[in-house]
Amino acid sequence: MIQTSDITSTDPTSSEATMPDGNATPTYDVVVVGGGAAGLSGALCLARARRSVLVVDDGNPRNAPAGGVHNYLTRDGVPPAELIAAGRADAATYGAQFRKATVTDVDRLPGAAQFGLTLSDGSRVLARRLLVTTGVVDELPDIAGLRDHWGGAVLHCPYCHGWEVRDQRVVVVATGPLAVHQAQMWRQWTSELTVVGPVADDALEELLARGITVVPGAVASVVERDGRLTGLRLADGDVVPCDAVVVASRVIARSALLEQLGLRTVDTVMAGQLVGTGVPADPFGATEVDGVWVAGNVTNLRAQVITSAAAGLDAGAAINGDLIAEETRIAVEARRRAAAAATA
Ligand SMILES: Cc1cc2nc3c(=O)[nH]c(=O)nc-3n(C[C@H](O)[C@H](O)[C@H](O)COP(=O)(O)OP(=O)(O)OC[C@H]3O[C@@H](n4cnc5c(N)ncnc54)[C@H](O)[C@@H]3O)c2cc1C
Repeated sequence: MIQTSDITSTDPTSSEATMPDGNATPTYDVVVVGGGAAGLSGALCLARARRSVLVVDDGNPRNAPAGGVHNYLTRDGVPPAELIAAGRADAATYGAQFRKATVTDVDRLPGAAQFGLTLSDGSRVLARRLLVTTGVVDELPDIAGLRDHWGGAVLHCPYCHGWEVRDQRVVVVATGPLAVHQAQMWRQWTSELTVVGPVADDALEELLARGITVVPGAVASVVERDGRLTGLRLADGDVVPCDAVVVASRVIARSALLEQLGLRTVDTVMAGQLVGTGVPADPFGATEVDGVWVAGNVTNLRAQVITSAAAGLDAGAAINGDLIAEETRIAVEARRRAAAAATA
């Protein structure tokens, strides 16, 4: 099993633990599950702190369908895959290692390497600490053809895409009371704005006052021409022409591993509408389970790419501090034992 010498090591490569079946299992100071902005930033911080770090990622970041990452200072508009590649290169420079796989299971172990992770290829790795940055999935309204345009002409966040569709014909699909808030936001980017769906009477005046058209009725499908979204077809057959569609996706934390460790998600409600779930944590990402940190969308559904990266850095620094505290405690105990032995 892991020895004290492993715990105090500052060699930024993994060690190996001998498991009961006699096989050597790679052991890391920290395993980061999820290699998006949050995970890579945490890995960079930890690798620079001379920790052995493994990032396990199955290559499905939330913004993959988008053409560019916006509102990321100095990198505005960079393709999402390019930002990820640059982040991996940064962390690899300092010794972070990478595996392309899904972490399917996690269990708690006695000893210093307190987490055992099973990967989709059947292999196992051990970790002293976990940073879980698995992000979210966006659940979309059940409208035929909508998913095909997600991240292109079907949008959710004006800070990500508002500038790109400024002054164009934009339709907000009302799936609940949040639509009124969304419409008032998107009005900042375009005056050619329509809300389709039910709107409460007390909100109607505010929408009309800002020149927003309201069309009652349910949306049935997307209308396309040559693969391009050109409108929305309503249940009664009418078509509302548009260049872009705004929906409120329901943002659900990828929390399966965290739930295996006993953590639970909490709901986030905005304007009376459930907008998503997340795993609670303190401001530095520590969860209620010792040794487990989270960062990015899995804990904060509002986090953008740059704020996810910042949260990953905070969590990485907090994990390093926690490891230092453990190493100090072990060193003090060893010193006391040595002193007691010398005086015996
Ligand atoms: C269409 C769209 C466009 C967007 N555009 C912008 C934008 O322009 N600017 C902006 O700031 N924000 C944008 N966002 C928000 C942005 O996607 C998130 O802020 C960001 O992705 C959060 O980073 P993260 O690291 O928390 O999660 P993610 O980037 O989603 O990364 C999580 C990673 O974990 C991996 N993973 C999950 N479970 C496992 C597992 N069990 N084992 C191994 N790997 C796992 C996933 O494959 C993924 O690679 C956009 C979102 C969407 C939906």
